[in-house]
Amino acid sequence: MQLYNKLSAIERAALIDEAGKDRLTISFYQYHQIENPQIFRDKLFLEWDQLDVLGRTYVANEGINAQMSVPADNFLQLKEQLDAISFLKDIRLNVAVEQDNKSFLKLKVKVRNKIVADGLNDNTFDVTDIGVHLSAEKFNDMLADPNTVCVDMRNHYESEIGHFDGAVTPDVDTFRDSLDIIEEDLKDNKEDKNLLMYCTGGIRCEKASAYYKHKGFKNVFQLEGGIIEYTRQVKDEGVENKFIGKNFVFDHRRAERITDDVVSNCHQCGEPSDEHVNCDNQACHLLFIQCTACSEKMNTCCSEDCKEVAALSFEEQKELRKGKGNSNKIFKKGRSDVLTFKK
Ligand SMILES: [Zn+2]
Ligand SMILES: [Zn+2]
Repeated sequence: MQLYNKLSAIERAALIDEAGKDRLTISFYQYHQIENPQIFRDKLFLEWDQLDVLGRTYVANEGINAQMSVPADNFLQLKEQLDAISFLKDIRLNVAVEQDNKSFLKLKVKVRNKIVADGLNDNTFDVTDIGVHLSAEKFNDMLADPNTVCVDMRNHYESEIGHFDGAVTPDVDTFRDSLDIIEEDLKDNKEDKNLLMYCTGGIRCEKASAYYKHKGFKNVFQLEGGIIEYTRQVKDEGVENKFIGKNFVFDHRRAERITDDVVSNCHQCGEPSDEHVNCDNQACHLLFIQCTACSEKMNTCCSEDCKEVAALSFEEQKELRKGKGNSNKIFKKGRSDVLTFKK
């Protein structure tokens, strides 16, 4: 019985090409008390592996958070399989706007302490006492209300390339940081203003809305299904779109374009750009925004230093990394002194 992913990304990509079948990128989450996450995890892995599902899923005592791709032909089978799990019956599956057969190249199902690293002690407040869910249309109505403060619950590198018109976009690196900053900013308006929040797929707002209610906010609302579901409703139901730019996503696609507006700038030259890249020096891997011209000039590196390293052979690079404490920049997201035009 195989319980873990065994193929490399390259092997998997070749298999996807060979199969020549369309895949759907979908996501869902559910907060629900799961007695034995490990058993549940193993069951999911076995079933999903059979359906050729790929992706990244977290299972914890508090629930499940799944992002995956599935062959379109197997979608109904997946849906049936999820419906057979009592707390996932009829769960809303967020389907990505832009499809990419290689959005995920491995099947990873992991047991974690939490399904979102929110940094909160859940025993201190009632996590089930959440805000009011709003459809895209209702969200637009409330966004237009002068008595509303709309807050983007995502991190700085996400909201930078796209956000709702007029939303507050906290300059934060973590979800936990944004909670405190927003509370401080709105502390005099806990009872009179509408606190309207949104995130990528809705999961962060589930916890945030409960937290703010616990902190004394009286009118707490959240976009159901996040930007992904909002965009679907805009497309399928003709709701007016108020989101500008790109929706940052956590798979190989990096982002979905929602409108043609470019709301951010290249971090190297300052020209309009909303293309996220990871620095090509593997020891750096910094996530930042780089326009095509700079990408060509810099070989997709964040700095001259990294450009030099990236030009070395694999062996030379490995030698360079040996024993050095320079891994601190790996996976650092969007912040570095070398980025002149990062605001
Ligand atoms: Zn540039
Ligand atoms: Zn770099």
